[in-house]
Amino acid sequence: MKCQWIGNGEGCTHEALAGHSYCAEHYAVVYQTGTVVRRKKDARRAAAVWDIESALNEAVEELIEEGYDFGEERWAVEVEEP
Ligand SMILES: [Zn+2]
Repeated sequence: MKCQWIGNGEGCTHEALAGHSYCAEHYAVVYQTGTVVRRKKDARRAAAVWDIESALNEAVEELIEEGYDFGEERWAVEVEEP
């Protein structure tokens, strides 16, 4: 089952935790379970996301250097097949 998180309309594509309606991230948001264990997991998740973002930003910067204008649609770019 997919996470039922709706948020501000962005939704969530993660798998929900077994027996719950939300993924770990949104379960925590919804139920505000501020445990130390969760904070450690969040920190690890944040670090992983940061790595991915860094890699993406590097790729984006390369494209900008090549003259690609992402404008405000930076995360909605459609890649054309060659
Ligand atoms: Zn979620």
